[in-house]
Amino acid sequence: MKYTDSRPSIFILYTGGTIGMVENPHTGALENFGLDRFVKLFPELHRQPYHIDYAALDHPIDSSDMEPSGWVKIAKEIVRRYDMYDGFVVLHGTDTMAYTASALSFMLENLGKPVILTGSQLPIGKLRTDGKENLLTSVEIAAARNEEGASMVPEVCIYFDSRLMRGNRTTKVNAEGFNAFRSYNYPSLAKAGISIRYEPRLIRRPDPDRPFTPHLSLDDRVMLLTLFPGIRREYVEAALLQDGLRAVVIKTYGSGNAPQKPWLRPLLAELHRRGVVVVNNTQCSQGAVEMGRYETGLQLLQAGVVNGYDSTIESSLTKLMLLLGHGFSQQEVAAQMNCSIAGEITL
Ligand code: ASP
Repeated sequence: MKYTDSRPSIFILYTGGTIGMVENPHTGALENFGLDRFVKLFPELHRQPYHIDYAALDHPIDSSDMEPSGWVKIAKEIVRRYDMYDGFVVLHGTDTMAYTASALSFMLENLGKPVILTGSQLPIGKLRTDGKENLLTSVEIAAARNEEGASMVPEVCIYFDSRLMRGNRTTKVNAEGFNAFRSYNYPSLAKAGISIRYEPRLIRRPDPDRPFTPHLSLDDRVMLLTLFPGIRREYVEAALLQDGLRAVVIKTYGSGNAPQKPWLRPLLAELHRRGVVVVNNTQCSQGAVEMGRYETGLQLLQAGVVNGYDSTIESSLTKLMLLLGHGFSQQEVAAQMNCSIAGEITL
């Protein structure tokens, strides 16, 4: 049921991360503190022209401890309140925020409301915190409506340091500066300055003929392998020839190239025979995989490797988990990897 209050209603879910941390006086390390203390440190939150409710996950965490089960918990919190609120803000640690945003973008199919992830590089209790601006602007974006009265940004996004980015296009790029995230292969959906400038033509809209459909099963039997000059056969075999492995993302060079080592093609053929989906993602932050461009890439195409296009690693891995969680066959997963299902690749 929706609130009768005429103000936009926003639900904030606190999952942990620096924004809600404080220094442990004994160890000097940052640790999570409770939601009540968070709200006390940030009274401005209640001076907004919105109806705001908030809750925390049972155990707020440093996002390095985030797991697929955590994405399911977050998705469930949103799904059960979906009809009650106009928009959602998820407070999350920055370290794995891009993974969570990517996973949620696939789990919340045909989303019609904003789900904005944000956090900060400095805790909310610090004078120079970036958390207040990040959170207040995220709330404003989650509440924004277009001329037709629909949500301005009905997507899973990350808002950070004045930019609103499609969640499944983001990567954490800075461990120090406030500009922690970038979306190299897709432009920002909005920029916040004195006013928030949206780019409506870049924003995905739900299909009005289909319902919002959450997906809560994920299969984590996936692996990531980064190529480098000198990579040894026995280590690659130990990592990939594992019973149960269902998909692997290989981080290749440049436009999707790999060394022409005599053992690599037979290994890829063996993985294919075992039903493993092998996806080619580039190590470059910008640009796309094009396997036919060089012989070193063509050999992968010929071995049945699937194109990762201009996807981020975060997006490829979480999309595979979702597709495998659906029980799709190797061919079906490969076919879906060649489609954009939440704006994650440019075709
Ligand atoms: N380690 C923290 C986390 O990801 C870093 C942050 O929030 O910025 O939870």
